[in-house]
Amino acid sequence: MNAGSQAGLAERLASGTVLGAEGYVFELERRGYIKAGPFVPEVVLDFPDAVRELHREFLRAGAEVMVALTYYAHREKLRHVGREGDLEAMNRQAVRIAREIAAEGGALVAGNVCNTWAYDPDDAATSVAVRAMYAEQLGWAAEEGIDFVISETNDYLGEALIALEVSLGLGLPAMVTLASTQPDQTRDGYDYADACRILAEHGAAVVGLNCDRGPQTMLPMLARIRAAVDCPVAAQPVPYRTNPGAPTMESLRSDGGGRAFPLALEPFSCTRFEMAQFAVDARDLGVGYVGICCGGGPHHVRAMAEALGRETPASRYSPSMDLHPMYKADVAARDSDFRAAWNA
Ligand SMILES: [Zn+2]
Repeated sequence: MNAGSQAGLAERLASGTVLGAEGYVFELERRGYIKAGPFVPEVVLDFPDAVRELHREFLRAGAEVMVALTYYAHREKLRHVGREGDLEAMNRQAVRIAREIAAEGGALVAGNVCNTWAYDPDDAATSVAVRAMYAEQLGWAAEEGIDFVISETNDYLGEALIALEVSLGLGLPAMVTLASTQPDQTRDGYDYADACRILAEHGAAVVGLNCDRGPQTMLPMLARIRAAVDCPVAAQPVPYRTNPGAPTMESLRSDGGGRAFPLALEPFSCTRFEMAQFAVDARDLGVGYVGICCGGGPHHVRAMAEALGRETPASRYSPSMDLHPMYKADVAARDSDFRAAWNA
């Protein structure tokens, strides 16, 4: 365990909003270190400095939790890319890297598991296989030292409950969040708010939603979840302009009509200001753990932190547009030609 004098997750949630940051897989894919398609975090072993750097960027931007990059680093996925032999090393190294960078700024360390694509609620054998995958991943994470577990992008309540049980069995608090890709129900037929309530009743420390939906289409669901549970609620949307007609990033369509997910989502990107507004809206709704998911960058996180009233290490370089020649109150006469061109 990350035993130390710093406040743990529960203490931080009790005293205010906890700011998280995710989206490691998307960002490292953009940077050329993860293959889109399988989205397996081979970067942890192949280019560990790239992982360190992104952790550090999120930390400097105000993230209070370093999430070990073990998303999709489970046996089923690694088998598909021919790296099953690297499974343990990849999981252990991801936690070590997260710990190393968390120590630079007093952040918490979260172990991470996600939907496996192996679970079938109608096939009990798959529950056994999923439990074994979570047990080995989280067992290694616990040995390396984590503060809590984030089980995320859960399509099925049943699969999420397995991750929760494995976490609690290891003595680790768990934040369990659902992937809300369907209009209002998990894939095994539970209303999202009911599923969160059931997770809370089974001992989840935090419940909520992450990924898939942008701020506009996640906020209404968060209000229902907030009303359904007594425990802290988490919200980590994608920074994309989803809307009632296309409520998830997977359903967004490019101008030509093709699916924008996952490689052509840029035209739908939220600005840092939109994500800052989300952070405030979520906090005001009573969401205790506010973060970001696929597509998120350090500029979003810093803006969210500052909107929550914080100054971060990266705030030293936050915008001062009054120092830009064209944004000054009194644009110099010799610069006015530039402004004319801008306004053309
Ligand atoms: Zn995501």
